[in-house]
Amino acid sequence: MPARILIVEDEEPLTLLLRYNLEAAGYAVDSIARGDEAELKLRETTPDLVVLDWMLPGLSGIELCRRLRGQAATAQLPIIMLTARGEESDRVRGLATGADDYIVKPFSVPELLARVSALLRRAKPERVNAVLSAGDIALDRERRRVSRGGVEIDLGPTEFRLLEYLMQRPGRVFAREQLLDGVWGSDVYIDERTVDVHVGRLRKALSPGGEVDPIRTVRGSGYAFDERYGK
Ligand code: CA
Repeated sequence: MPARILIVEDEEPLTLLLRYNLEAAGYAVDSIARGDEAELKLRETTPDLVVLDWMLPGLSGIELCRRLRGQAATAQLPIIMLTARGEESDRVRGLATGADDYIVKPFSVPELLARVSALLRRAKPERVNAVLSAGDIALDRERRRVSRGGVEIDLGPTEFRLLEYLMQRPGRVFAREQLLDGVWGSDVYIDERTVDVHVGRLRKALSPGGEVDPIRTVRGSGYAFDERYGK
């Protein structure tokens, strides 16, 4: 069965363009132009992914996203947010409200398709495996909690997503640029050094008493969750 995608967008030409390309890529597509109508529809059926515009009549995309995250049936629903260029603080707000990814208009269709497919891939294992674990580190995706040796670790949302991203693919080395794409959603306004800052914070939180560092720095390349950790 093809993955079902709901487009919530009030600019009709953009909706048509997205529908055409998503259907050509093999997805089943529904579209709605109003936020409030989308909310009603999402109460009846849950698609596999939502492409959600920020500015919508009826109910804003950001408010709809917040409400969806607050309900069990849609708490894990993959959401890609669309917005106008340059709204950096909005962008941050979008991720804080729970969107999985964020695309700034105007965007290229191949870029959107790549994000859709990446997010669907990323979302699938989440349904199967709520807890990722390696050695004494456990990451609970549903409760958004991390513990080490049974002791809960307090992580910021970005550090949580970063650890989740790395732990999903132990041993794989991610360049800073890939991490920006996967964890933040690619955006020209974020400097790659931001990745180093957050990896630093994550490391500090994971090893408060000088425990073994499970994250590897690969010089000149990027970061990986050590595949040997806990083995
Ligand atoms: Ca709009």
